[in-house]
Amino acid sequence: MRRRKGLKLLPNFYIKLWQGELITDSRGKVRRCFPLLAAWLADHEEHTALHNIARNCCPKCEVDPESLGELQKFSPRDHTIYRQRIENYKRTQDLSEITSLAAVGLKALYSGFWTLPRIQPSEIHKPDLLHNVYLGLLKNLLEWITAFLKRHERLDNFDEIWRSMPPYPGFTPPHKAFREVSQWQGKEMRMFGRIVLAALAVALREPSPSQRHLFNRALECVKNLVDFHLMAQYLSHTAETLGYLDDYLRRFHEDKDVFLEFRQSKRSKRKAEALDKKLRDQYSKEDTNENSLRSGSISKSKRQRLDISRKEERDAQRVEIMENESHFNYPKMHLMTHFHDHILRFGNLPIYSTEIGESSHRTQIKEGYYHSNRNNYVHQILGYYGRHHAMHMRQENLRALLPENETYNEDLNPVLGPSPNAVAPRLSLRHLRARQGGSRVVSDVQSRLFRFIHNLDVCKLLISYSRLSLPIHQRLPEDSESLLNLPAEFFNQLEVPVPAFNNPREHEIHHVRCVDSFRHQGRRHDWAWIKAGEESNFGALRGRLPGQIESLFKIRDLKTGYSHRLALARMLRPGPDGGSVDPHHGLVKVYRARGRPGGDLAVINISSICGIAHILPVFPSKGEECETWLVNSRIDLCTFNEIY
Ligand SMILES: [Zn+2]
Repeated sequence: MRRRKGLKLLPNFYIKLWQGELITDSRGKVRRCFPLLAAWLADHEEHTALHNIARNCCPKCEVDPESLGELQKFSPRDHTIYRQRIENYKRTQDLSEITSLAAVGLKALYSGFWTLPRIQPSEIHKPDLLHNVYLGLLKNLLEWITAFLKRHERLDNFDEIWRSMPPYPGFTPPHKAFREVSQWQGKEMRMFGRIVLAALAVALREPSPSQRHLFNRALECVKNLVDFHLMAQYLSHTAETLGYLDDYLRRFHEDKDVFLEFRQSKRSKRKAEALDKKLRDQYSKEDTNENSLRSGSISKSKRQRLDISRKEERDAQRVEIMENESHFNYPKMHLMTHFHDHILRFGNLPIYSTEIGESSHRTQIKEGYYHSNRNNYVHQILGYYGRHHAMHMRQENLRALLPENETYNEDLNPVLGPSPNAVAPRLSLRHLRARQGGSRVVSDVQSRLFRFIHNLDVCKLLISYSRLSLPIHQRLPEDSESLLNLPAEFFNQLEVPVPAFNNPREHEIHHVRCVDSFRHQGRRHDWAWIKAGEESNFGALRGRLPGQIESLFKIRDLKTGYSHRLALARMLRPGPDGGSVDPHHGLVKVYRARGRPGGDLAVINISSICGIAHILPVFPSKGEECETWLVNSRIDLCTFNEIY
């Protein structure tokens, strides 16, 4: 649809490309400007049609269709050479001039792009994260993993962890079991990319000695593809990040053959089915011949033996075909090799994704329709979008006209948004929200949590916090009675501002919840990152430890006059490896901190809570309490960038 529209638009654009257009510049001078066709955002199918090339070819380079699955570079397409060859053929009628063109996938002796000035057709193709990565490679990965888990009888494990995925800002935990999800679209695939590695690492826990090597390779393969797709989403790159991008892709190619048998192309499936049908026909022929010879049916036990041996023969034939015919030679696998060069020449990948067009559909059409009265809505949609667009441009202009180092009155914030020169928000500021009613004292912490936490000694924890963290003049009383009777307030939520990735001026708010009943779904006590040491501590965790927030409260010491905003957290700690990442799945394992005095509980100041953590339990065998967790560092780009 988009392609057809594009071709219809081309005549107008075509005239402007040649004749230019008169545009008035900022000083009022009229200039003749020549637009340039620099990019065409479309999926692979649409590009092959636009470029008049075969479907298993690359619009950018002369890749051999049999090598699409290899990590190799091929010479870029040079359309001037193609045109030269065609000219030669037309002049001399020498077929050898154009046979080489057919070999590189050209389907016609003409391309629409050749009539446009100043363009390199191979350059207008842009990588497309939506179709190439989310709906391409991640979707393939989903099929391979499903088949792999089924083969090794781990699909139930995967389902179990899939359903118990904890929430995270910007991530909606799946409501259905993994195999019940029928629709995998862009949004679902993006969520899948953020959790698949950790879920697979949990599902493939405790392998048998014979499975260990295979499982480790599968995890390494998935890790490298997931890391590649996360790094492809970066909005700015350095030589270092590009080096990582290459490294992930290379290592993915090294290990991808663990999934080869599950990579069934349509052709190999068709071939397997045809040969299977042939075999079944042959069996039924044999049966009819035998029946006519014997003039009676064979014994039941013999029939069973025969059926089993035939099934084995059919299965063996299918596996053989799949192994011989399966390959990774498809365009989406190849197009990833162009990402590095594209970033070097044209900038980050997300700006070219077709997602932009698909999501702007919402602002350009859907929103206008919702605000229309549903009669003659076309004019209303156009008017709505026009008004909003003009208003938005006006706002941007006003913001841009503001002199440097000046801010505007805060009253204008709802109209103009925060001033571009405003001071960045104070990231140290945390807010306790949703106060519980009634007057309370410290001993209520104990009675509230009595049902969930045994042996809770709040006094001991508070005294230990006071001694370790507070200056002498702010310290809490150390006799139990006055401590337990200090006035306290309880809260259900903590707002923590977290700096946005790659953009220090912006931040998002993490809502750390600590409630006994959340939206009728039972107790919800979020995991949070807690600053517990220097950046050099705890290996990859860099001075932070995950902890489950059990209670949020504020106590007032009437004697010293100080208030303390505190949280009670169940802390996890790195294991004997000191918090280093696993060599295969690249995630950090954390354990319940039992050996320390006071068990795994600690009272902390809320200023040491840095945001929500995504932690998956590694389920133990039935009847035992969970002791090990995996830190899902692939949940967002920020965590991915910090924990490695
Ligand atoms: Zn290519």
